[in-house]
Amino acid sequence: MRIERLVVATKNEDKLREIEAVLLGLGLVNELVAGLDWSDVEETEPTLEGNALLKARAVAGATGFPSLADDTGLEVDALDGAPGVRSARYAGDNASYADNVRFLLQELAGVAHRSARFRTVMALVIPNEEEIVAEGVVEGRIIDTPRGDSGFGYDPVFEVDGRTLAELSDGEKNAISHRARALRALAEKLRGR
Ligand code: IMP
Repeated sequence: MRIERLVVATKNEDKLREIEAVLLGLGLVNELVAGLDWSDVEETEPTLEGNALLKARAVAGATGFPSLADDTGLEVDALDGAPGVRSARYAGDNASYADNVRFLLQELAGVAHRSARFRTVMALVIPNEEEIVAEGVVEGRIIDTPRGDSGFGYDPVFEVDGRTLAELSDGEKNAISHRARALRALAEKLRGR
């Protein structure tokens, strides 16, 4: 199945840039519809899947277009999977990326075991047709001093094979990221339809 017109249900420019780059490479969509607006959707569900579906359904309902939403969490093993679904608000309701990174490093001060993963759930909602959900994961570790200027969020402290995600080019991040993997898994599911 190829989607004629799609809205990416996010107001986060960083996510949008990555999703658009990967989507265009997948040849899944003919046109990405830009310039639409919708009321903010509060992420009230306890799971990534629940929140991704909540956002995709709301934006499909508001715009009438097929809608794709991403919900992402950072899971740190030494913190029993936190911040997870609360990654955006880890240091407080209006926390910046830098606030969240600082708080995470404080929580991990003196902790030797630093394995972690990013998990993204993508939800595609096609009005009056179907809902498809797919997941992508990248494994890594949390370093103790941020490195790199690209990417966003927790990228400067998340290391994979010796480099943080913020030390990778956009293309390198999109080759291995949780988000890109979720999109490729979604494309695989759509191809079977
Ligand atoms: P949400 O998916 O909008 O709930 O946001 C989750 C939070 O995780 C964001 O605010 C970022 O801080 C962080 N995040 C999401 N995706 C990435 C990523 O690709 N790299 C680094 N941090 C991310």
